Amino acid sequence: MTTERIQKWDREEIALVRISMAPPLRWVNSYVLRGDEGITIIDPGPHTNVSEGEWREAFAELGISAADISAIVVTHHHPDHYGMAGYMQSLSGAPVFMSERAHEETRRMWGAASTMNEELLNLYSRNGLPEAWCEQLPAHMESFISQVTPVPEVTYLSEESRFRMGGRIWLPIETGGHAPGHLSFYHTEQKIMICGDAVLPQISPNVSFLPGSDPMPLHTFMVSLDKLSAFEVDIAFPGHRNPFIYFGERTRLLIKHHEERLERIVNMLAEQPMTGYEVCAVLFGNELGIHQMRFAMSETLAHVIELIRLGQVQISEGSDRQTDVFKLV
Ligand SMILES: [Zn+2]
Ligand SMILES: [Zn+2]
Repeated sequence: MTTERIQKWDREEIALVRISMAPPLRWVNSYVLRGDEGITIIDPGPHTNVSEGEWREAFAELGISAADISAIVVTHHHPDHYGMAGYMQSLSGAPVFMSERAHEETRRMWGAASTMNEELLNLYSRNGLPEAWCEQLPAHMESFISQVTPVPEVTYLSEESRFRMGGRIWLPIETGGHAPGHLSFYHTEQKIMICGDAVLPQISPNVSFLPGSDPMPLHTFMVSLDKLSAFEVDIAFPGHRNPFIYFGERTRLLIKHHEERLERIVNMLAEQPMTGYEVCAVLFGNELGIHQMRFAMSETLAHVIELIRLGQVQISEGSDRQTDVFKLV
């Protein structure tokens, strides 16, 4: 295996393990924390044949076995973080910890009664997504099921919990916007933040509007960034890319990035009313595969919804009576 797969910090008590996932992200950062309470795995990654093999190699390199795992912690419900939790639990018997809200999202997305796939298709076609993408959506959504199987038995963590891992006590911080019920973990004395996808270096975390989930995700994301910016952080361990030291600055840059995008949409709509897809195509282009198009459409809708919340944009029915258009108030 490549030596870069595992990086270690702080007397080897915190190890970052890169687990492969689909492009464009390519890998998710899992963390293995070693302490007197045992081994804690944070965000084990998506469940695939490849990730199973990578963990076997990582366990060997770290000199641990599944039986040493005392806890599995999930920052948020996305398949690249939560997906393998049930599999890890089946190997180790360890409890899986996540927030109640994040657990609710797993059921909304993949539960037996989930209607997400139909609702998402209706939402996107109402917002003008061309048929060529709409018809790819059901199979694309189905493709995540294997990545989140088997389903773990979950124990809830909240901000009131003080959680011990890596031989120290962490403060869970619940935020939303990127994912409802997202937990970051802050160690006060050493000013370490394990931040999942709440704040990422280089990448702007996706902020998606999804039917039945957070009705105003961009507003929630901005409030969350503001909340996280209040913590003094010497090093942040993110869910993707590399650990970074400019956490506070990064939260402020992300807020600015979204404010600028909102302004850009207002300027576009000042020219003419547009469908969600038309706004999306200007912001993100339309040379996108279905995976990126889904993120682009839902991120565009999150922005337009924020402008509606701010009283700057209104929604009306297009001339075909089947598509919505957005225009300035
Ligand atoms: Zn995520
Ligand atoms: Zn992620």
